[in-house]
Amino acid sequence: MSVQFTAVLNQHGADRLRGGHPWVYDSDVLGWEPEPPPGTHTAPVIMRDRRGRELGLADFSPHSKIRLRRLSGNAGERADREFFRQRLVQAIAYRRRVAPEAGACRLVSSEADGLPGLIVDQYGRAPGGAIVVQTLSWAMAARQAELIEDLETLLQPAVIAERNDTKVREREGLEQRSGLLRGSSPGVEAVINGLKWHVDLLAGQKTGGFLDQRENWAAAARWAQAFAAGEALPALDVFTYQGGFALHLARAGARVEGVDSSRAALEAADANAVRNGLNIDWIEANAFDLLRDYEAQPRRFGVVVLDPPAFAKSRAALDAAAAGYKEINLRALKLLRAGGVLVTCSCSHHLGEGHFLELVTAAAADARRTVTVLERRGQAPDHPVLLGAPETAYLKCLILAVH
Ligand code: SAH
Repeated sequence: MSVQFTAVLNQHGADRLRGGHPWVYDSDVLGWEPEPPPGTHTAPVIMRDRRGRELGLADFSPHSKIRLRRLSGNAGERADREFFRQRLVQAIAYRRRVAPEAGACRLVSSEADGLPGLIVDQYGRAPGGAIVVQTLSWAMAARQAELIEDLETLLQPAVIAERNDTKVREREGLEQRSGLLRGSSPGVEAVINGLKWHVDLLAGQKTGGFLDQRENWAAAARWAQAFAAGEALPALDVFTYQGGFALHLARAGARVEGVDSSRAALEAADANAVRNGLNIDWIEANAFDLLRDYEAQPRRFGVVVLDPPAFAKSRAALDAAAAGYKEINLRALKLLRAGGVLVTCSCSHHLGEGHFLELVTAAAADARRTVTVLERRGQAPDHPVLLGAPETAYLKCLILAVH
């Protein structure tokens, strides 16, 4: 019989949990009954407030500042293998509702699926498809082999990869690791929004691609088409990576230039364009320099997309990041002709939607452009936002008409 450990939380920690946030920081843990042995414990623990009231069951992280991650509000629940298997089943069933047609999607999104620290992305459809797994917390990493077995039974993928080469694992005291766990090739084909993509599960960013933008790619193309009025609209996709927005815009009839500083990303983007019979100009450049150079030229665009990497990786970096977001948006606004469309994104969760909107508003004022909002979008619904956990609402995508 294993010992049941109980964490006693202070008022702040208890209030946060009751408000819907699933994390407890080390500073909010008053003590333990009994104390788990350092660095070894992986079974779920019970959480209580100072008056002994139960707050639920949580995964314990011995090294991270995020000491506890809630698994269930019911401390009496048994968080055994079947509990986690059921959570996987529920997460997969949710995707069948919110992304039934998606050729690639996030099947498990950590806290939002009651599986804190677990990410599972699917590329292509079972049985030929692939899944990519990330275990990002101490306890999820400890149960990784069981999770993989259960995912294999549920989904029968041809390929399973792990992408545990992400920085957040360092904070948990976990090693960097990536590789194939099943199957022989990391290259998979996926059809996303009717376009063919080749995805390298081990070499790509994130788990291979930016699935959270999937529905925004299609939305951007819809608006570009609406504003093109039959013309081949000149379009600029800045921070294109493997051509997500660029390919969708080209298919909608735009003449597209895709910009990225990564040559490898552009080579993959070009292969994707060729696969779909699309012709796109790829430019390897630093986006800040390119936008400045283009501003000095007379050419203007009908569509500009901005989808930079998270400039604000921490709260402390927010001021510098805000200046970066404002600068690229200002330059993009100046590059758009009247009647143009700006698609502008931010994936920093530290930068809230309100703040992002303020920055773009300030850029519009500086550029002396009148701007109306076509759509305020976020991440695709297979990356669910958990109310009470603002970190889960990270992606903003504004689609704007520039007059
Ligand atoms: N728009 C893409 C995702 C972009 S990810 C999609 O929808 O799939 C951000 C990209 O910005 C990465 O490919 C990275 O290589 C690129 N990048 C980062 N800094 C850059 C810079 N200063 N100039 C140009 N590209 C940059």
